[in-house]
Amino acid sequence: MGTAAALSLAWPALGAPSQGKQGNPACRIVRPGDPDYEEARTDFNTRFSIFPRAILFACCARDVADAIVWARRHGVPIRARSGGHSYEAYSLVDDGLVIDVTQLDRVRVRHHDRIATVGAGAALLDVYQAMWDQAQVAFPGGSCSTVGVAGLTLGGGFGLLSRQLGLTCDALLEGEMVTADGEIVRASDRENRDLFWALRGGGGGNFGIVTELVFRVHPVTNVSLATWDGRSTSYRPPCAPGSRGRPPSIAAWCPC
Ligand SMILES: Cc1cc2nc3c(=O)[nH]c(=O)nc-3n(C[C@H](O)[C@H](O)[C@H](O)COP(=O)(O)OP(=O)(O)OC[C@H]3O[C@@H](n4cnc5c(N)ncnc54)[C@H](O)[C@@H]3O)c2cc1C
Repeated sequence: MGTAAALSLAWPALGAPSQGKQGNPACRIVRPGDPDYEEARTDFNTRFSIFPRAILFACCARDVADAIVWARRHGVPIRARSGGHSYEAYSLVDDGLVIDVTQLDRVRVRHHDRIATVGAGAALLDVYQAMWDQAQVAFPGGSCSTVGVAGLTLGGGFGLLSRQLGLTCDALLEGEMVTADGEIVRASDRENRDLFWALRGGGGGNFGIVTELVFRVHPVTNVSLATWDGRSTSYRPPCAPGSRGRPPSIAAWCPC
């Protein structure tokens, strides 16, 4: 039986994602013909036109695990998606199931030991903003506000703070992920060390679907900005912590 036929016959078995059952419309399954299918099937790079059989907007690791188990049982190819900025649209698949984690976007900063727990679907701007708002800290992420934290970290991650603080994956302390068996595991220096090694630069979508990332964060002290408009350079003095609004480290970025 072909994938499409198997999917349409077996689809009810996947059911609605868990939070969707509790009435959260953001956690849903989008299929061809649904009003938001076009938007849901489009990544940042619009040169690719790919038509998944469905896009699951997961709300928790259990949704991801159920989807993986279901897809394997029915022979449906899957892709993980966070920010959708894969240059080659590797987070999409024709006739398959896209497991989108963008609803997993919570950021929590623990002040006392400077550790941030970040949902795998958070976009970088939201991560920087939350870190600044909660504790005036930052991590060495990338320089594009809409890139997803998962794809960035799993591929290494290089940004404005990297000369001082290293790659994004260097700041990674732990990850929660769902394996190909549908098991929800944690990987760190203490457990599943081989997976932890693979999470730090092994590339996206290879070793499981990541649902949460834990980072070491750093206090933001003084930040100076220099911008060049093609003719002259303008310089803004250090921005002291405590200022309200956007984190100083991202105030000068152009949105992409
Ligand atoms: C405009 C732009 C600016 C960029 N700027 C920078 C930069 O400053 N620094 C830098 O280092 N890189 C940068 N990149 C590259 C970017 O980090 C990579 O393309 C990254 O893979 C994108 O991650 P994403 O989650 O947004 O993309 P996605 O397309 O969602 O995912 C990328 C890959 O990771 C996989 N993946 C996604 N989520 C998960 C998950 N939860 N678990 C497992 N696998 C997953 C996908 O299957 C896919 O293979 C930029 C890219 C673009 C398009």
